[in-house]
Formats: sequence, C-alpha cells, structure tokens
Amino acid sequence: MKKIALVPGDGIGPEVISSALRVLNAAGFDGELVEFDIGYGRWRRDGKAITDDDIERMKDCDCILFGAITTPPDPGYRSVLIRIRKELDLYANIRPLRSSRIDVIIVRENTEGLYSGLEMLGDEEARTVRVITRKGSQRIAEVACRIASERKHLTIIHKANVLKSDVLFLKTCREVAERYGIRYDDMLVDAAAYNMVIRPEMFDVMVTTNLFGDILSDEGAGIVGSLGLCASANLGDRWALFEPIHGSAPDIAGNGIANPVGAIRSAAMMLEWFGEMERAQSIHQAVDRTLSKGVKTPDLGGLCTTSEFTDAVIDEMRRAGAC
Ligand code: NAD
Ligand code: MN
Repeated sequence: MKKIALVPGDGIGPEVISSALRVLNAAGFDGELVEFDIGYGRWRRDGKAITDDDIERMKDCDCILFGAITTPPDPGYRSVLIRIRKELDLYANIRPLRSSRIDVIIVRENTEGLYSGLEMLGDEEARTVRVITRKGSQRIAEVACRIASERKHLTIIHKANVLKSDVLFLKTCREVAERYGIRYDDMLVDAAAYNMVIRPEMFDVMVTTNLFGDILSDEGAGIVGSLGLCASANLGDRWALFEPIHGSAPDIAGNGIANPVGAIRSAAMMLEWFGEMERAQSIHQAVDRTLSKGVKTPDLGGLCTTSEFTDAVIDEMRRAGAC
C-alpha cells in the first residue's frame, strides 16, 4: 500500500486538503495516510515549524500531499516548503496551466536560483546569492524536454542579457534541447510575462529558474482565472510532493469558501505519479464538468462553499460511474 505524508498546514491548507481527501476516497484510492503537524501554527505553539525527525519520517513515505503553509517575513523563520524541497531533492516543479485561454506547462527549477538560502540581512545592506549550476540546469532541462517531446515545443525563459547566472542556464538548456532533438526557442522573462497575457497560445512548455517560475506560474494562474484552480507536482528522483500553487490565504481562511480545485487536481497528479491514470482522469473530468456547469466558489464569482463544490465533484464522479 502506498504511504502518503499528509501536510494540511495553515490557513486554507486544511480546508482544501480535506476536499482532496474526500475526492481521493470517492475515486477508490486506498493509501496509508501519515499526518504531519508542521508549519507556522506549530511554530507559534512550540517554536519549531518542522524538525529533523519530521523530515526523516517524510522520507519513509512515498510522497507528500501538501496544503499550504504560512511563511511570515520574519528573519528567524525559514520556509518549511523550501526546506522539504531541498532535503528531499524535489528539483522539478511542474505547474500545468489550462483553461480556454491557455494551455501551458511551466517547469520550474526548484532547489537553487534565488532560493538557494545563501543570504545576509544587515541594516544597510542585504544580499541573496543566485546559484545556478550546470547539474541543476541540466536535470531540469531534461525533465522539460521529456515533457515537451510529447507536446509541441519548449521555451527557455531567462534573463541572460543581464544575469551571468542565466548565461549558464540558457546554454545548458539549449544543449539538452539539442540532444533531445525537440523544437525549442528562448525568451527573456519580462517579455515572457507580457506575452503570456497578450498571446498565451505561443507557449507550450516553459522551463525556467526558481523565482521566475514562481512568479510566472502565479501570473499564469491569473490567466486561468484563479490561483485556487492550479495544481503542481514537485518531483525528485525518489520522492514527490503534490500541492496547490496557492498559499494559506489568511484573508479567507476559516470561512469555508476556499476553492479546492488546485488541491483536488494536485491529488490527481499524485495518482498519475503512482501510475493510476484512469482514476486521475476521472477526477480531472469531474472537476471540468462541475466547473462547466457553473458550480463555483466565490473566487470565480460563484456562491458555493468549499464543501458544496466538493460534493458536486463527487456527484459528477458517481454519475460517470467512477465511484
Ligand atoms: P495566497 O496564495 O495565499 O493568496 C493570494 C490571494 O489569492 C488571496 O487573496 C487569497 O484569498 C487568494 N486565494 C489563494 N488561494 C485561494 C483559493 N484556493 N481559493 C480562493 N482564493 C484563493 O498568497 P499570499 O496571500 O501572498 O500568501 C499568504 C501566505 O501563504 C504567506 O504566508 C505566504 O508565505 C504563504 N504561501 C505559501 C505557499 C505554499 O505553502 N506553497 C505558497 C504561496 C504563499
Ligand atoms: Mn508561489
């Protein structure tokens, strides 16, 4: 039986994770769940957001299903998610963006770049070191090329005109794309941000560094219609973590109105990673049908609560005979 580390986290994290679990159950997925109490709530209670022991226990699971965790801008607090990504070497962040306007997969490098953790904060000056390695660029480019080889083409997103670190990133990605023999081009990140809004159809698979990928994927979520709709997989060679791309949304937490689609689709991506393609497909299709009937949470202009929306998705699955 698959062993899944469950991290509901803070804010709307537990609300959307409970929806994802209900849908997984309805799809007939049967796994062992190991729940972790980590995050900002835990930090405020006992001064520790996550411990070495938590990391070790996570490594004993096959993968992680993650809600969202609050990261306060406090110099004494280190992002839990960034630590998990690093310790489990989850180097490839895959973020599909799909709607009537856009159909793109962002492949974001997840362990280095500006999130290297090499930082210095003083009163007069602060520094963050942007680390780009050949190995890191190579392995993310390989993931992107494998995805692009089953789709149309790859765009390498960078700022190599200004940043020397991106000269290495661009050069390495080009070498890998040549080796894979796929169609590819490249674009400066600022132009890409503009073009995603103006003509999103020009993109198919985008590969980029950590911070650029973080920003472009939230932009893409805006084009899709809501941050609450988008899912992601953080993949390594051994473990994986699945999470909606949104954060803990403290502004709406506790009201029961969070959009659970990102979390539900993240759970479906977890099933795909396990090779359970049919179950995953039945979930994606039930979500598509629910949305197309106009059943929506307030972020999309609807009136549904999180649990009403989830009920509607499960009804759709029943109707299709998927559960
Ligand atoms: P956010 O993604 O939490 O929220 C941004 C806006 O989108 C808010 O108005 C929120 O209400 C809305 N939104 C987000 N998800 C939604 C959903 N499922 N349904 C409806 N509306 C939704 O980003 P933020 O406000 O910048 O950050 C809040 C906290 O979350 C911060 O502490 C931040 O560090 C953390 N964060 C965590 C993650 C993560 O755990 N992966 C990612 C991003 C931000
Ligand atoms: Mn983000």
